[in-house]
Amino acid sequence: MPSVCSHLLVTQSVGSFLKSFTGSGKEHHLLCPACAGGHPDLSAVSEETFARIEADGDWEGIRGHPEVPCEASGLRFVEEDPVDLDELRSRDVRAIAALGIHWVVVTVTGDILELDTTTPATRRFGSVTGSVALDGRIELVASPDGSMVAVTESLGLRGVVVDCATGRILLELARGEHGHKVTPFIPAFVERDVGGVKRQLLVHPTEWNRLDVTDPRSGEAFARRPIPPCSTPPAQHYLDYFHGALVVSPAGKWIADDGWHWHPFGALTTWSVDRWLAENPWESEDGETLRTLAFRGYFWDSSACWLNETTLAIWGHGLDDEWLIPAVQTFDVLTGAEKAWFPCFAGADDPHPTPWVRSRWMIFDRWLFVVRRGQGTTVWDTTTGACLLNDARVSPHAYQPATRTFIRLNECDAFVLFRCVEA
Ligand SMILES: [Zn+2]
Repeated sequence: MPSVCSHLLVTQSVGSFLKSFTGSGKEHHLLCPACAGGHPDLSAVSEETFARIEADGDWEGIRGHPEVPCEASGLRFVEEDPVDLDELRSRDVRAIAALGIHWVVVTVTGDILELDTTTPATRRFGSVTGSVALDGRIELVASPDGSMVAVTESLGLRGVVVDCATGRILLELARGEHGHKVTPFIPAFVERDVGGVKRQLLVHPTEWNRLDVTDPRSGEAFARRPIPPCSTPPAQHYLDYFHGALVVSPAGKWIADDGWHWHPFGALTTWSVDRWLAENPWESEDGETLRTLAFRGYFWDSSACWLNETTLAIWGHGLDDEWLIPAVQTFDVLTGAEKAWFPCFAGADDPHPTPWVRSRWMIFDRWLFVVRRGQGTTVWDTTTGACLLNDARVSPHAYQPATRTFIRLNECDAFVLFRCVEA
C-alpha cells in the first residue's frame, strides 16, 4: 500500500517531498523534508492520492535505495587472447572507436591508425598533431560508412574531420569559447540519402548555442539559417542553451543533445533530423519535434543511448546531481514522455581513473550494457529492468556493433577483445 507522511496530506498544495525507498523493489514512501531525517508518521493513501502528490509536489530528494532485480541469465563475457602489436602499445592510445569491422585509434603523438585485430596489423593514415591538443581527453567518432572520423578536444574548442583513406583533413571544427569547459565536444555523423547518393553529414556545434550540419567532403552546409541576435526581448529562434554530447538514433532520424541551461540545469533534448534537414532549419532551436526529456540540476553528460529509433535511455533517477541515484530512465522521443526507469547498482568511484577514459558509457545491442570506469560492466534487460550480468572485471573502452565485440586496452600494452554470449 503506498504511504505518505501525514504532513503531505494537511494542505491542498503539496510543497516539497522526498522519496524514501523501502528496499523492496521500487516501493517508496513520500515524506516531507522534516520527516525525511526522522521517524515519519505514515498514512496509507490511494494510488490516486499518491500519484497526485508525486505529480504536483516539488521532488527534492531520495532516501534509501531501491532493490536492483537480478535474473539468472547464463550471460557471460568471453575473452579472446590479447593482441600484442610491435607498432602500437595500448598505453599510447588516447581514444579508440569501431571503424566497420576494424578499430580506429588516436595516439598520444596525434597519429590516427586503423587497427585490424584479426591479422593483426595497423595502418597509419593520418595525424591530428597541431590541429587538436593532445594533453586532454580526446573524442573520436567514426562516420557510419567508416570513410571518415571526427577527432575533437573533449573539453576544448577544436576538432577535425579526417578522411580514412587519404588522411586528408576534410573539415576543421571550432565551437565557441562560451561555457565550453563543462560539456564534451562530441559531434555526430548522420547518413543521409541526398539525390540518391548516401552522404555522411556531420552535426557539430559552432557556438555554445548553435549546431550546424556540414558535408565534410564538399563543405556544403545543411539546415542553413542566420544567427539570431542576443537581444531583449529575445529575438525569434534565439536559443538559450549550451549544446552537449550528440548522439544520433540507429537509422539517423532523431538526434539527442545532452546539454544544459543556465543556471545550470542539464536539459537533455531531442528532435527530428528528417524535419530539421528537410523542412525547418530551426528545428534544433524551437521546432515542433523538439522535446526536453529530463531537466536536472547540475547534471548533464548522462551517457544517452538509443534503444531503438524513438526510445532513448539516459543515466540517473532524480532531479539534482547531489541526490540522483544510479538508474536508467527511458523516454519516448515522439511525445517526450518517460516510459520507464529501473535502478542500477551504486559503486565506488575508481580511485585511480585513467584520465582519457570516460567515467561512464552505455551501449544497446539486444541488451543494455552499462560500463563504468573501474567498476566493470553490467548488462540489463530493458523490458524488465533486470540485471542479467554484473562483471566487475570487465571495463571495455569501445564497442564494435558489426561483430558485437568489445575492446579493452590492458595494462600489459595489449588489446583484449571480448563478447557477451549466452551459455
Ligand atoms: Zn512529514
